[in-house]
Amino acid sequence: MSNRTSFQNKNKRLSAPPFKRLNFTLAFLFAFLFVISAQCVALTVHPAWLQESLEKADKLNDKNPLLALEFTQNLLNQHHNELTPSAKAALFSRLAEYQFDLADLEKSLQHIEQFYALSPDLTSHDGISLLLTHGGVLDELGKTKDAMALFLQAEKNAKATENKKLLGESYSFIANSYSNSHNDSEAIKYYHQAYLHLKELGDGLALAYLKIQMSRSYSYMYDNDKAISLAKEAIHYFNQHKYYFDELFAHNTQAQNYMAMKELDSAINSYQRVIELSKKEGQESLIDVGYLGLAKAYHQKNQNVKARHYFALYQEVHINSKSVVTQIDDLILSALIAFSGKNIALAQDNIKQVETLLSTLEKKKGISWHSQILDLKTDIAVFNQDYQSAYQYQKKSHELFRSYQNTEREKLRSKYKVMFDTDQALLQNQVLERDKLLDKAALENAAQQQKLQVLLISAISVFSIGLSFFIYRQRKTSKILHKLANTDALTELANRRYTFIYAESMLAQAKKYQQNFAIIIFDVDHFKKINDTYGHPAGDIALKDIALIANEYVRNNDILGRIGGEEFLVILPNTSSKQAYEIAERIRKAIEIKDIMLGDKVVHISASFGISHLAKNQPNFNQIFHEADVALYKAKNSGRNCISLAS
Ligand code: GH3
Ligand code: MG
Ligand code: MG
Repeated sequence: MSNRTSFQNKNKRLSAPPFKRLNFTLAFLFAFLFVISAQCVALTVHPAWLQESLEKADKLNDKNPLLALEFTQNLLNQHHNELTPSAKAALFSRLAEYQFDLADLEKSLQHIEQFYALSPDLTSHDGISLLLTHGGVLDELGKTKDAMALFLQAEKNAKATENKKLLGESYSFIANSYSNSHNDSEAIKYYHQAYLHLKELGDGLALAYLKIQMSRSYSYMYDNDKAISLAKEAIHYFNQHKYYFDELFAHNTQAQNYMAMKELDSAINSYQRVIELSKKEGQESLIDVGYLGLAKAYHQKNQNVKARHYFALYQEVHINSKSVVTQIDDLILSALIAFSGKNIALAQDNIKQVETLLSTLEKKKGISWHSQILDLKTDIAVFNQDYQSAYQYQKKSHELFRSYQNTEREKLRSKYKVMFDTDQALLQNQVLERDKLLDKAALENAAQQQKLQVLLISAISVFSIGLSFFIYRQRKTSKILHKLANTDALTELANRRYTFIYAESMLAQAKKYQQNFAIIIFDVDHFKKINDTYGHPAGDIALKDIALIANEYVRNNDILGRIGGEEFLVILPNTSSKQAYEIAERIRKAIEIKDIMLGDKVVHISASFGISHLAKNQPNFNQIFHEADVALYKAKNSGRNCISLAS
């Protein structure tokens, strides 16, 4: 499911009037001077009372756009006759912005038209600000190219007038737009530009907004730990400063981060917080987002009664005019829920509607949806036992994905690297400092995350995790065909073939980017005896148990596969042999202490472990595998139930 809904795209405006930090007298003096020279200089400056009111509106908007909207509308009504065109333009620009913040695109567009009708100066603060709002609306409506043209114009005008705040914001909008078109490499580049500008301005609130947006991008780039940390920081800021409206949005982003990690219970908590804050802030119309999130989360948990319940609530309360993006998301979810309830007719009807909507979008923007639709069609075809069509849909889905992966992923990696190699020292230091903190936070989180990993490496996700961060975060339908090809029927772990494919690709990456890479092989001790004593079916139960236990200690990018009868392999990208040892030790211990129930008997089982890692001059995976195997043999010879590292 694409998370790029209109709600999340919300790029809450960071704008403040140019004189925000000057006191009233100074502002007045400036205004006075500019009014005097207004005839010869084409600069827009408002009378002091208006300037003050605009500042107040912006402050209100920081708290809650609804308040700002009401305040500005009153202002317009009360002073309608005495306002100059440029003053009116300033108010329309604000109204457009607040409506955009509230995701009411239609009303925002109406104010944008009212603004243009006054032929205002597009290099003024209000003008640049409006260009950004207008671009934001078009972006929401799927008109990416037109939106980008407006953002670039805003960037140009902000540069020319040295308006740092709006320049930073322009970068942020550009980044957002790239992110929406799955161009994450460009997105990150512009986010960092924005970060630099806002940091320089010392604007904590603006930085918090940016962190939310960056969180989203990092999540799309498969870097969930960073995504979660950034969102946490922003939530903390909003909460401390009582910006509950923004905290609400931040929780929504965080919920989606958790969804991407399949930490469904955390996601559910976050969505519940969204609902709670919506009520508190009088944002009844935003409750729908919480309901929708809960519907998605429960659907993923296979609790379809609850999923249907929340989806129904969502449809009841959804009153905003829906953007194309939102409509597509809703229809896909509806189709998935319908399919899980075996309502094939409704699912197919929803798919048709999605396809119609997709045909209005640029192809690139729709990749994730196309892919989801193809997956769902596959599932329906399998359900109807039409395996021929299922195969065709799946083939198409692979092709689509490959074309995306080859271009975008490579671009992402190379650009990311170039960026870190060449950017100014300032940026590097900031990024490095932050990464250090984030890594620390990630380590602290690791313990909790492990508990939830059983969910992650389900048969459904094994395939997607291996092949791409893209499909990993997008797909949620059951992949029956993939399952047959890539998973082990008994334990539902990755099978030998797939584990090796994944290992090879992770190893290639590790070599290319000079990262760590380690593997663990383990083999159950004296397993023949279990079979002999309790029977083969009991042995099967024990194997399933062991798979479940070990899987709890496998992290996000790792996979655990069953590569032989009672032999397992864990692939650990980006992991040192020391870390691998720690993971192996946890698995060893967990197996050792587990009471395995075979019939009415409690049995204790152990396993032996061999570890090896990527060192220099290792040509291929087979060699690393062989070394781990030798180490395993050593562990067996040292009395079993222990770990041995390849020398
Ligand atoms: P050790 O590894 O400690 O040296 O002893 P072991 O008894 O485990 O030795 P070995 O690896 O030679 O034996 C593995 C046994 O696992 C042999 C086979 O009967 C059993 N086995 C293999 N696949 C399965 C399976 O899918 N289900 C069951 N129940 N048993 C299996
Ligand atoms: Mg064996
Ligand atoms: Mg064995």
